[in-house]
Amino acid sequence: MDSQNFPHITGSIAKNLPEAASYWEYRPSEIMRGLAQEMYLQDKVVEAYDNIAEGRDNYLQAEAFVRKEGTQIGLMQGLTLELLPKEVGTLVTPVGEVIKKACEVVAQKFDFDWNPAALVTILSSADAAEWMPSRWGYYIPKSPYGKICLPFYLVQDFEELSRTTTHEFMHHVSASLSHNRISHWLSEGLSTYAEGMQSHQARIRFRSGESKWLDPAELDGSVGIDNREEKMLSKISDSYAQANLIVHYLVAIEKEKKLTQLLLSLGDESFLPNIEDELLMRSHTDGAIRRVYGVSERLLFENALDWIRRTPIPASNS
Ligand SMILES: [Zn+2]
Repeated sequence: MDSQNFPHITGSIAKNLPEAASYWEYRPSEIMRGLAQEMYLQDKVVEAYDNIAEGRDNYLQAEAFVRKEGTQIGLMQGLTLELLPKEVGTLVTPVGEVIKKACEVVAQKFDFDWNPAALVTILSSADAAEWMPSRWGYYIPKSPYGKICLPFYLVQDFEELSRTTTHEFMHHVSASLSHNRISHWLSEGLSTYAEGMQSHQARIRFRSGESKWLDPAELDGSVGIDNREEKMLSKISDSYAQANLIVHYLVAIEKEKKLTQLLLSLGDESFLPNIEDELLMRSHTDGAIRRVYGVSERLLFENALDWIRRTPIPASNS
């Protein structure tokens, strides 16, 4: 493993990330370069790993290992599970059921037709290492399918397996319906919403001003790859919470189904809305929010904060 070209991936750095922005650099497809990246994004992970010395990274290695040693099981049309039978053992069937159920709930809620398909890969227990900042799983919009990678420990914790699968599969739905045009903050907001996150503590901090309510550009820069470990920086925690609260606000003012409309509007590549956004120098997300909710992205952020200040905090805690 030649890690010299990829100094960001060493364990010590992964453990001591100083800035929220650094998390962004961990998105595997952005770390890899050239042909390795191209093949990785087609999920030709073994070919990429075996044939391309330059541009390998730990993600590629972990995914290639499961491809080489593991097996694939069709769970349903549009959903395949990949794992190492030697490691998962007798849990293969129940793990498949938990994953299928979690994905079905999300697909139904967001009218997702399972196109493009998704592959869920359970990584090896040997790869549950410090270098992997996405200890909670990660999603990569590959082609021709989206890929969800889950850390091994989840096969021993079905509740977490279900929650994490829901979160990552929601990224797949968001990326697919929006044709990969969704901003990071909105994708994280939707994924944390889908998994059932309720940021009550963060509400209190945002109300009091203890935590800063970021503007759209700041928030987008602050949520990166999923890294919600216990020691995570409060800044990143607050960013996820803010994105989550904004989606809760959208559901408070309009039907939940409007979220699907928002995703479809983001994916609308027809001429008129796109030329309008371009001329007015709006992001796709800003344009879609205006078309579906009738307010700008910036005003949505202000209104959501206002709602948090006005609305009593629910009694339950998380
Ligand atoms: Zn996420």
